[in-house]
Formats: sequence, structure tokens, C-alpha cells
Amino acid sequence: MATDGAKIMKRIHDEEIEWVDLRFTDPKGKWQHLSMVASALDEDQLTDGLMFDGSSIEGWKAINESDMVLKPDLDAVYTDPFSATPMLIVFCDVVEPSTGELYARDPRSTAKRAEAYVKTTGIGDTVYVGPEAEFFMFDDVRFENTYSSSYYKIDDIELPGNSSKEYEGGNMGHRPRAKGGYFPVAPVDSAVDIRGEMVSTMLEMGLPCDKHHHEVAAAQHELGLTFGTLVTTADRMQIYKYVVHQVAHAYGKSATFMPKPIKDDNGSGMHTHFSIWEGSKPLFAGDGYAGLSDMCLYFIGGVIKHARSLNAFTNPSTNSYKRLVPGFEAPVLLAYSSRNRSASCRIPYGTGAKSKRVEFRFPDALANPYLAYAAILMAGLDGIQNKIHPGEAMDKNLYDLPPAELVNVPTVCGSLREALIALQDDHEYLLKGDVFTKDQIEAYADIKWADVIRFETTPSPVEYDMYYSS
Ligand code: GLN
Ligand code: MG
Ligand code: MG
Ligand code: MG
Repeated sequence: MATDGAKIMKRIHDEEIEWVDLRFTDPKGKWQHLSMVASALDEDQLTDGLMFDGSSIEGWKAINESDMVLKPDLDAVYTDPFSATPMLIVFCDVVEPSTGELYARDPRSTAKRAEAYVKTTGIGDTVYVGPEAEFFMFDDVRFENTYSSSYYKIDDIELPGNSSKEYEGGNMGHRPRAKGGYFPVAPVDSAVDIRGEMVSTMLEMGLPCDKHHHEVAAAQHELGLTFGTLVTTADRMQIYKYVVHQVAHAYGKSATFMPKPIKDDNGSGMHTHFSIWEGSKPLFAGDGYAGLSDMCLYFIGGVIKHARSLNAFTNPSTNSYKRLVPGFEAPVLLAYSSRNRSASCRIPYGTGAKSKRVEFRFPDALANPYLAYAAILMAGLDGIQNKIHPGEAMDKNLYDLPPAELVNVPTVCGSLREALIALQDDHEYLLKGDVFTKDQIEAYADIKWADVIRFETTPSPVEYDMYYSS
């Protein structure tokens, strides 16, 4: 039988592939690549990997120990529809040349270890993850002054009271207002074709997609990527972002997954659905609250218990915490419910056992998908292993509850600083099965502390407004 390497070599030959693009993800979640001339590659290189310089990736190796191996995952190969010449995208794991082991700080390897760890626990054998990544799309303009308050062309969006542009621009009645984007047909929804092209491109690449829609905010969108196993779904999320950026660019737009680009309108989240299965048996279905099993309730309990530490991975930017405020369908309280969308954990309505799952609503799409999904899974598994019950469900609109009813309800972190401190104080659950390592977590936190310090020490335009003439 042909090896996987031989199969890809045959594909390179049959499809006249000119480039093999080796892709991997850095700790921040950015997709990185190295383009290899296809005719210069051989089967051994595809099977064993290729050396590359790991020192240029922030948070990885020091310069004196920089050589690392990019090892193609031959089950994760896609055609790149954006390349001018035929190109294959090959997802790679990063391997230590000295030991041949997966590199502890490589996020994709972390996610692989998390998937392997579940199996060793005896809890189940397959974890399904379903992400909903929202984004904004604006006209692509270069910003002369990044300290000005208009980061985007006002044509895209008109917020009441946003600026004097409201009056300068003439009648803007045909454009969506704040929170007015969801569901009106074109031409109010002016991006139908662009989103359609994004989804068709992903389908062409072999990703399972089932819908797209305008989101609640003006100029905000979501594409429906169907659930899949953990590492594969994280790979698909990297493709999703790549396709969104590329298609937007082709239309003269720019897309952003920044969680809160606009004050006073909804931000962008990456709600993430989880379920665990054993063979064909859905283990989150049962006869408890909302048709859930005890296992699922404990999973929720673990995620709620560790949520503030998880925030360092699931909400990894200073901007993330501007989204996690009341009033914009983003969660603040660490509670669960089958009814309302203001809870951090929602049990989506579904009749069958097969659709039983829990949706975590606090993550956003700046998260490194490999690290975020692996970390949520580890928190949930800790809940199952220690039977951490999440308490009573909160089937009320949590935004409207009187303060007295809320004093004992924990909340997500209020800033990236808080999240990094929470991670420092609570990370043992991530270390089980060596899925994450202490060294990796520290290196990750260092990168994020740099963002916190930069942000906290830079005067903001808002401060000029509040204090300049005081
Ligand atoms: N944009 C909202 C958030 O920040 C979610 C809105 C929705 O999908 N209903 O999570
Ligand atoms: Mg959705
Ligand atoms: Mg949505
Ligand atoms: Mg959702």
C-alpha cells in the first residue's frame, strides 16, 4: 500500500501542484507558512518533516537552539484556492529534532495531546467542537492617524450619535443601525454575495458549512461552519479566518475578528459548542436539566470553575473585555441556562440526544483555536473527574436581575490583566496528561503581558477627551 507521503506525491504530480505551503500556528493564533517548491520535495521530506528556524516565532525557541522540524500532517491537506499557481496547504506539527517529540509550545500539538488525553481518561473517545466566529467587514482604507476616532470608513456603518457624520452623510436610512443588522434582505444587507463567496470557497476546500448571515451589529457577519473533532475544527477555523480575510480583500474590504471594534454595538464572539461521545453514543444526553447527563453538567461545572483562567486563552486580547459587558448578547455572568443568551453557558434547544451539547459564549475569535478548545476541554474534564456540579440553572434574563440576586454569581474577567493573574493562580487542570506544560503557559503569558503593559501605558484618545482640558 502506498504511504501517505507517496499519496501526496502522486497528488502533486496528478494535479500539477507547483507549491506546497507548510502551515503552522504561532501561540497568538496567527497562521504562519513556509512555501516549498513542489518539484524540490520528496516523499521522505513529506513523511519525516523539514527543518525550519523556530526562533523567529514569538514565544518559541531562543536563537541558539532554533532548529526545529515542521512535520506535515498528511491527513490535513487542502488546495489553496487563492494561490495564482496550484498550491497545496499542508498543516504541520512542530517537532523537536533532538527527541522527535511534538514541541510543547506548538499549539496544534497541544490540541493533539488534549484529544489523546481524553481517550486515556475513559470518559469518552471523541470530542466534537462547533465554533461560531463572528467578524466585521469594512471598506479597506489606510488610516493616517491611528489615534483618530474613525478607524473605519463611515460608509460602512452609521451609529446614532457616533459622530457628526450622521448629519453630513445625508440620508442613511438604507443602512443598518446599531443592533439593526440581523436578517433584513439585500440591499440593506449589502454583503450577501461576499459571504456567499466565502462559504462557497470553504465548501470547495472541503470544509462542512451550512449557512451564513448578517449579524446583529451593522457590518457584522457570521458564517456557519459545522462541528467536527477538536484538532480538525481548529484547523478549519484557521482556514475560515484565512478565507474571510482573503475574500474580503478581493472585494476591497478588510475583515476583523477584533471582539469589540465599535462602541455601543454588539461585539464579535466565537461561541463554542462542545459534546463528548463514546463511539456512536452521545454522552452529554441524559435525563437531567434540559435533557443533559450528569457528565455534561459536571463538564459545565468545570468550565465555570476555571473560566477566569480560561479567559487568558479564550479572550486573549485587551479588546476582548470591551465585548464582555452587559447589553450586547455577550456574557458576563458565569451561569448556565437552556433559555437565555446572557448566560456564559447555554444549552441550545434541540430535540434529539445527538444534538445535546453545551455552548460556551464567552470565547472570541482572537483566541488561538487550538489552545482555546484544548483548555476548555481540560476544564470540562476536570469538572467530570471531580464531579463539580454547576449549581442551579439561571433561567432569567441575567442582565435584568437586581444586584442583590447577583452578588454570589461569579463573572468572567474584567480585563486581560485579570485573566493572566487568574491563569497564574489556576492552571493545574491544564497540566494533566502533559497536555499543556508550565513552561508553555509561562511563555504564552509573557506574550500576553506585553500586550497588557503596552495597552496600559499608552494614553488613549478617550483620556484626551475626558481629561485634556480638565
Ligand atoms: N455578537 C454576540 C456576542 O458577542 C452574539 C450574538 C449572537 O450570535 N446571537 O457573543
Ligand atoms: Mg450562530
Ligand atoms: Mg452569532
Ligand atoms: Mg451561538
